[in-house]
Amino acid sequence: MGLMIYNSLSGKVEEFQPIHPGKVQMYVCGPTVYSYLHIGNARPIVFYDILKNYLTFLGYQVTYASNVTDVDDKIIQAAIRQNKTEKEIAEFYEQAYYEAIEKVGSHLPDLIPHATDYVADMIDFIRKLLEEGYAYEVDGDVFFRVRKISDYGCLSKQVREELEQGARISVNDKKEDPLDFALWKKTEVGIQWDSPFGKGRPGWHTECVVMNHRLFGGPIDIHGGGMDLKFPHHENEIAQCNALYHHHLAKYWMHVGRVDFEGQKMSKSKGNVISVKDFENTKVGMIVRMILGFTPYRNNFSYSQQLYEQYEKMFDKWQRTYRQGLYELQEKELHNDAVCQEDLAEFEKWMNQDLNVQNVLTLLERMMKELNLALRAKKIEEIAMKWNTIDRILKVFGICLFVEPMTEEQLNVYRLWLKCREEKNFTQADIYRNQLVEWGMI
Ligand SMILES: [Zn+2]
Repeated sequence: MGLMIYNSLSGKVEEFQPIHPGKVQMYVCGPTVYSYLHIGNARPIVFYDILKNYLTFLGYQVTYASNVTDVDDKIIQAAIRQNKTEKEIAEFYEQAYYEAIEKVGSHLPDLIPHATDYVADMIDFIRKLLEEGYAYEVDGDVFFRVRKISDYGCLSKQVREELEQGARISVNDKKEDPLDFALWKKTEVGIQWDSPFGKGRPGWHTECVVMNHRLFGGPIDIHGGGMDLKFPHHENEIAQCNALYHHHLAKYWMHVGRVDFEGQKMSKSKGNVISVKDFENTKVGMIVRMILGFTPYRNNFSYSQQLYEQYEKMFDKWQRTYRQGLYELQEKELHNDAVCQEDLAEFEKWMNQDLNVQNVLTLLERMMKELNLALRAKKIEEIAMKWNTIDRILKVFGICLFVEPMTEEQLNVYRLWLKCREEKNFTQADIYRNQLVEWGMI
């Protein structure tokens, strides 16, 4: 059995089979760049990075796109508040977004489309929707006619009545139906573009569909985002794509859960928001990555200081074992890429079960113990095999334990230290030991 993933669209765990054999096209809704990212925003950044790594590990050629929404009411408001242009606000927070990606140890997506680069395409898209009767114009605003889509609600699995109740919260007299959503917004303040419907800016739901189509040209394999995007954002993306392109936007939809802080929803007013920019160093980012990476992705979960400390202990323990393994291999000059096939097979087995990362964590803990035993028993072949396998798995998770190989000089001192210990020349051994401690090696 190959990779099984939970498809939010069908509500079932399904076997993953990409549209084009050997290739995976993945699009994840990225940030609206008007503020700093918190731990909850970092979760999809970590999860989809691991997913891409794992798909690559399985031999797929993955193209991972994630957009930057650089036009939005929130950006316009921030610009007015701070007396800056939207461009300045967006560029500043886009930079902060890239720094956050780096801090949690993720790669940049392969493609990073910016909404403002596709406005002409969006206008064209909206014009076609109008022509085909899927949209209507009221006083410079353009809305999507949801009633024309028979399977509206297919992703969020809500019936019309429930959807309507939710939509009524934002009453807009201009709409024919409370469920209809804006494709084009007439704006008097802030950045605006000329269009056949008047001056304004595109709606968020249209941006992702248009960019998806421009980048990939047809249905993609995986569309992802946070759980909160399921409705209305993703539901509306599907509706627009069905209307104009007559196909489903994506074959598989994946959503990651929310991160709370000590049992409470993170919010600025409560002051319990943990910003990625406040991480003191790369180690903190890596520990947070471990927490996010080893928590089942679909669950909401609560972050806490206690959880952080628990993972920090694990990080330190892993780092010691991994470093000792690397030094031992260097000292014995054994460099091969032998892996433990059984362990790798077990890793794949768990990952293939809709990314059962908790069982991978248990596996890694066991392997670290086995590496420790091999180190104590000085079984060098066994050390190499365990170390290489652990290294492979950590790479898929993007976990860096910040262990560098020894330099020539360090290796010499390390060898002298081992020799003195063996000869029970403890006075001399201590001198070498102090040097190694100074280098941060032990
Ligand atoms: Zn989107």
